[in-house]
Amino acid sequence: MSESISDRLIKFYARNDKSVTINAAQGHFATSHSHINYYIDVTRLKVRISEAKGAARFLKQKLDGQVETVDTIVCLDATQVIGALLGEEIEKGGFINNNNIHDTTYVIRPEVNSVNQFMFRENNKLAIEGKSVLVLVDTMTTGDTVKRAVECIQYYGGSVCGIAAIFSTIDNVDGTRVFTIFDEKDLPEYRAYEPHECPMCQKKIPLDAMVNGYGYAKL
Ligand SMILES: [Zn+2]
Repeated sequence: MSESISDRLIKFYARNDKSVTINAAQGHFATSHSHINYYIDVTRLKVRISEAKGAARFLKQKLDGQVETVDTIVCLDATQVIGALLGEEIEKGGFINNNNIHDTTYVIRPEVNSVNQFMFRENNKLAIEGKSVLVLVDTMTTGDTVKRAVECIQYYGGSVCGIAAIFSTIDNVDGTRVFTIFDEKDLPEYRAYEPHECPMCQKKIPLDAMVNGYGYAKL
């Protein structure tokens, strides 16, 4: 494919809410754990307030009646804007912050240390210990990163009540339910492979880019 990745992006609309959109481009991409045939660009949802509001409203509706208590939102992949707006929706919408003294939601981001482990500093531990924690992530294919985040939250004494995602092809991570805006039904041709089993690699198709929560980097 000779066109640039940005030229190849196609818009996809969320079911039930056409104001929430993501862009995706076909190609051959590497994430930290997998090779995928679509680059999913969720940047606008993460950095533009109006789009992030739409995503937060959508996720709040998904959580309604399914999750009782959200004390803390732990944001991965630079999802803090959506996290803050989702916290507002949750506070408006009758969720119980019954473990929080000041009746408001914590929105925090873990640090990643030099050996790639998630961690929280002493001053942020009170947002995790004894709390009901929602993990917010942008796109999820293998769930490996989220698994590490869940382990970290449990290590600091929190319990994970759910995982909210913009795009996910899996519906649970070790039994914890995933609430997602977009799934494989919205992008039926989407495939993720273990790097050593990737058919595009086997056909010697070069990688277009490395992708992570911040976007893509051409090789
Ligand atoms: Zn590959």
